[in-house]
Amino acid sequence: MEDDINTDLRVLQSHLDGMLDRVQHNSLTLKRFQVFEMRLLNLNSLAEMIDHLLEEAKPFFDLDMISFCLIDEKSEIAGFLSDDDYDYQNNDAFVLLKDNEQLKNIFGIPSTPFLGAYKQSSCAGFFPKQEKKPVSVAIIPLRRRGKYLGSLNFGSYTPNRFINDMATDFIEHMVSVVSICLENNLNFEMMRRTSLIDTLTGVNNRRFLEQRIGEEVDRSQRNGEPLSCLFLDIDHFKQVNDTYGHQAGDYVLSLVAGVIKQQLRSNDVLARYGGEEFVALLSNIPETMAVDIAERIRQSIEQLPLVYSDNSIKITISIGLSTYQPSKSASVSTADISKKLIHSADSALYSAKNNGRNRAASGEPVEDVAADKPRLAS
Ligand code: GH3
Ligand code: MG
Ligand code: MG
Repeated sequence: MEDDINTDLRVLQSHLDGMLDRVQHNSLTLKRFQVFEMRLLNLNSLAEMIDHLLEEAKPFFDLDMISFCLIDEKSEIAGFLSDDDYDYQNNDAFVLLKDNEQLKNIFGIPSTPFLGAYKQSSCAGFFPKQEKKPVSVAIIPLRRRGKYLGSLNFGSYTPNRFINDMATDFIEHMVSVVSICLENNLNFEMMRRTSLIDTLTGVNNRRFLEQRIGEEVDRSQRNGEPLSCLFLDIDHFKQVNDTYGHQAGDYVLSLVAGVIKQQLRSNDVLARYGGEEFVALLSNIPETMAVDIAERIRQSIEQLPLVYSDNSIKITISIGLSTYQPSKSASVSTADISKKLIHSADSALYSAKNNGRNRAASGEPVEDVAADKPRLAS
């Protein structure tokens, strides 16, 4: 009798220990999950979000593989990531989809996660870069406001790791947080760019230039490299509007912006400064080279075959340029150097206009030693 009671007690104790273990395990998992989500909520860019998901979700969910698909119909996401120097094309676990067909095929509408055996026909598109395909998968749609954003895809080499009737509340909770973060990040990236881009010409706007010029001056000082600035203004542009209409003028503006951009390197800054005026910042370009670049731009605009509504329009441009060569004893603030650089190029533009237009002129070199300070002999 006493033995039976002792046996029962030991069984009960072992059940209790097992339950306590599970409670402890669940509470630890929950804590790790909260840390995972908190980090996700605090990320500042799309690139950081992709890395966080791919690196942390794999050990967290104990997966053999993971991939992350995003729908990018207009190649905007590709642009955001390239702008941030994120090498997404070499990331095996990240996929950009041209449309939502692949997702609609597997989820239909409405959608819940798909859990089950890997099927080549419907699942291969979610793991296109993985040579060894998984055996069971969880393909989890990311949706916001009834729209597919993409999917997060888990793969395992174990057949019953993901099966149809498995509880998915943990995963679904995480995916709703991921979807919100994703939407926020995409909106932010979009806003960041549209607020700094001129909608008519597609080049950067003056606000962008004002943000960047200080960074360019700082970089020039750090590296001891020259920084050149071109101030470009279309000649007699008012006459284009007056003769052919405002729409023709708009067309000319965007075409000219495109031609100038073509003549610059991809890392040069080009901004629409105002109406028919543009400013370019050319890093590590001394004055002699800036003169050549300005001349090349002037010629390519002059030679432009420009036809609008059967009217052949002749366009020329005047360019003022200035160069800042940093010294070792800079005593002028970055903001003042930036102002001087623009001012000197603007004054040179004025001479180019006064000397007959359709030409480039050089302005005073920009110095960074205050006038009242003695200069060090070089
Ligand atoms: P100059 O050779 O001295 O530079 O003469 P200009 O006629 O180019 O210069 P002016 O400053 O007299 O005229 C600039 C014109 O640019 C006037 C304005 O209507 C036009 N403009 C400014 N922004 C836009 C725009 O977004 N679209 C169009 N179509 N015209 C614009
Ligand atoms: Mg002007
Ligand atoms: Mg003009």
